[in-house]
Amino acid sequence: MMKVSIIGAGPAGLSLAYFLKGRKEFDVTVYESMSKPGVKPCAWGLITGIEGFLPIPKGSIISEIKGFRIYLNNKLIFDIRNKEKLGYIIDKPLFLQKLAEDIGDVKFNSKITLKDNKYYLNDKELDSDKVIIATGHYSVEKSMTIPAIQYITDYEIDKEVVEFYFYSGLLGYAWIFPDREGSKIGIGGYAGVDELKERVKGILKGRIKQFHGARVTDYGVIEDRLNGNYVGEALGTVYAITGEGIRPSIISSKILADSLIDGRDFRKEFKKSKLYWSLNWHAKVLKMSKERDPNAVRLSKAITSSDPELVLRFAIGDFNRLDLIKLFGRSII
Ligand SMILES: Cc1cc2nc3c(=O)[nH]c(=O)nc-3n(C[C@H](O)[C@H](O)[C@H](O)COP(=O)(O)OP(=O)(O)OC[C@H]3O[C@@H](n4cnc5c(N)ncnc54)[C@H](O)[C@@H]3O)c2cc1C
Repeated sequence: MMKVSIIGAGPAGLSLAYFLKGRKEFDVTVYESMSKPGVKPCAWGLITGIEGFLPIPKGSIISEIKGFRIYLNNKLIFDIRNKEKLGYIIDKPLFLQKLAEDIGDVKFNSKITLKDNKYYLNDKELDSDKVIIATGHYSVEKSMTIPAIQYITDYEIDKEVVEFYFYSGLLGYAWIFPDREGSKIGIGGYAGVDELKERVKGILKGRIKQFHGARVTDYGVIEDRLNGNYVGEALGTVYAITGEGIRPSIISSKILADSLIDGRDFRKEFKKSKLYWSLNWHAKVLKMSKERDPNAVRLSKAITSSDPELVLRFAIGDFNRLDLIKLFGRSII
């Protein structure tokens, strides 16, 4: 039996443990430095697409998202409403807590340290055949991440709608997502925290209950880490343009779990996936914007003047080469 230690009880680490659960070949333990899951700041938006292989307990669904609004310089550009749900606002701590309970062997208050290529819990070396790093942005170089800040307020917004705000002069965006009570109002991008705070003031509504922030990886997949020892945001599985990391991290764990179970090479399996391809395109578009369009003029224009359905498909990683050409022009390829 292979003893597997997973470091980090975020969406990546817990879903990996869930996918390996009940397999005789693996004895899995998850270590989490915090006292409970889901403490890291997040807006809790989850696009549909993982329900087939992971339970989303009903109680952890705050609302089903059926529409989105896009603003440019605070002017409403699109107000789209779907019949079908596009995703959910989940109570992420509860969702992760339920997953942890389902898995069983999750040790909280257990910060793992690395010394001379060995992993330790309270000075005792981890007794494992394989250690998998699922520590999110905490293990990613700062230069591969951007800051994101968020206010939790009592401002009530339509529970079925998420709002995105783009600005001339900012490579990044702000959002208003519904919460169980009130909303989460945040912003992330290529700017200092003070500038982000200043920008988001324009859409900040309601009484502020909490303010927090974290970094989010915008680099794309970190190729050196495709060795089967990293998963989730620690591997770079965040859509660089949107900052969406929950669903991609869970999908990366599914690919890693299947590779371990079937004895296949994770690097090869991951590189074959649509996830890898689409994550890399997001990172490439962002890199080109940083180099050639730092004020995001062309990127904002592409997003706000294209067919909203196409923009949505690009945002969630469900696009092809033709879509890229339609959005950004032939020179992108
Ligand atoms: C402000 C903000 C809003 C966001 N909103 C969204 C959103 O709405 N939708 C979305 O899809 N994505 C969002 N993201 C991104 C998303 O939160 C992450 O990409 C996602 O949680 C990554 O999952 P993960 O499991 O890889 O890492 P994480 O969720 O970061 O989990 C890593 C875990 O590892 C633990 N850990 C770290 N170091 C150690 C250690 N040494 N020992 C033990 N444990 C350790 C941490 O405490 C943490 O619990 C947002 C990010 C930010 C910053």
